[in-house]
Amino acid sequence: MTDHVLVINAGSSSLKYSLIDAKSGTAAASGLVERIGEDESRHVHHGPDGDAETTRPIADHEDALRGALDAFESHGPSLDGLELAAVGHRVVHGGSLFGAPALIDDKLIAAVTDLVPLAPLHNPANLEGIEVARRLFPDLPQVAVFDTAFHQTLPEHAYTYAVPLAWRDEHGVRRYGFHGTSHAFVSAEAARLLGREPAEVNVIVLHLGNGCSVSAVRGGQSVETSMGLTPLEGLVMGTRSGDLDPAVPAYLERELGLTATEVDKQLNSASGLKGLAGANDFREVTRRRDAGDPGAVLAFDVYCHRIRKYVGAYYAVLGTVDAIVFTAGVGEHSAVVRAAALSGLEQLGITVDDDLNSSSSTDARRISPDGSRVAVLVVPTNEEWQIAREALAVVRT
Ligand code: AMP
Repeated sequence: MTDHVLVINAGSSSLKYSLIDAKSGTAAASGLVERIGEDESRHVHHGPDGDAETTRPIADHEDALRGALDAFESHGPSLDGLELAAVGHRVVHGGSLFGAPALIDDKLIAAVTDLVPLAPLHNPANLEGIEVARRLFPDLPQVAVFDTAFHQTLPEHAYTYAVPLAWRDEHGVRRYGFHGTSHAFVSAEAARLLGREPAEVNVIVLHLGNGCSVSAVRGGQSVETSMGLTPLEGLVMGTRSGDLDPAVPAYLERELGLTATEVDKQLNSASGLKGLAGANDFREVTRRRDAGDPGAVLAFDVYCHRIRKYVGAYYAVLGTVDAIVFTAGVGEHSAVVRAAALSGLEQLGITVDDDLNSSSSTDARRISPDGSRVAVLVVPTNEEWQIAREALAVVRT
């Protein structure tokens, strides 16, 4: 058997897959099926011979995964001779039940189904991906890797909201945190870059992508994170507001007659950078800001101010900080965000070197001057590799 894991990330109308060598992290192939259920579904397969793209009606996730398997056969690499070790599934919400990846069986499926009210958009799609993969790979072990699991080490005082006992005890109202796979991968890579063991370092990880979250990681364990019961809380994101006064929905209900569900929808899909600048893609926000668009200037300032506020708060949570790490689309690519978000923090030992920060390298690297008290790092995230590693660890134990 090889160390290859097929990693599957099933969304409501999409299916992403990667064939990863869990030991080296090399992706032998990957692909994306989009607009599942529509007439013009699109499938792109990145194989050893380049990209193959098809457009056809793809009815459901089973049709999508069958299409992916066909693409492996026609464009490579063939899965037949490969002896996959496992299929690893990204599952968004593991609630308080899963602090680690787990082998998928009927009991796990029932537990993830019970958690659907906490992640009504994501968990059903993840379950669909699992059901389909179990049908198409009946002999392979399947492993669920939860986005919430890394944050299950949060202490009770960090995950508890100050709300009535019945909400907490009977309805699971607490902070869970998300992007855990990325925070786990990036915090471990940061330790490696510092030449130390994860257990020896305290790091603040800023995952700035379409979704944004920050975590405080002490000795390899997450002790605080910005996303909460759902991924809405915390930093300003592409289309999500992040933190706001919990009284806002009731105010909008009184003033505009909006229901809580309508407000929730707009806070998730019409807020954040989109609400402030009219665009959720950070490259577009940057273009508009450079052109002097006042909405985009404000969006940038609100975005960076929120990050700075969290860095200060998580510095206080950790007490000592060895590194601040930027990752994901914006964190890895926007030197201007990195510089702005950390400006004025020199008294905390946090400095960004302009030349190092503006280098166009895509490798994991340090962007703080030599000898500064807190290392500032850029570390590309690799959630697929982390899922593959965790899945392999489960099937090899
Ligand atoms: P992710 O969710 O990690 O794929 O990140 C997506 C976000 O990263 C989008 O808002 C992109 O606009 C942003 N992004 C990607 N490349 C760049 C770049 N070169 N400069 C600024 N933002 C970028």
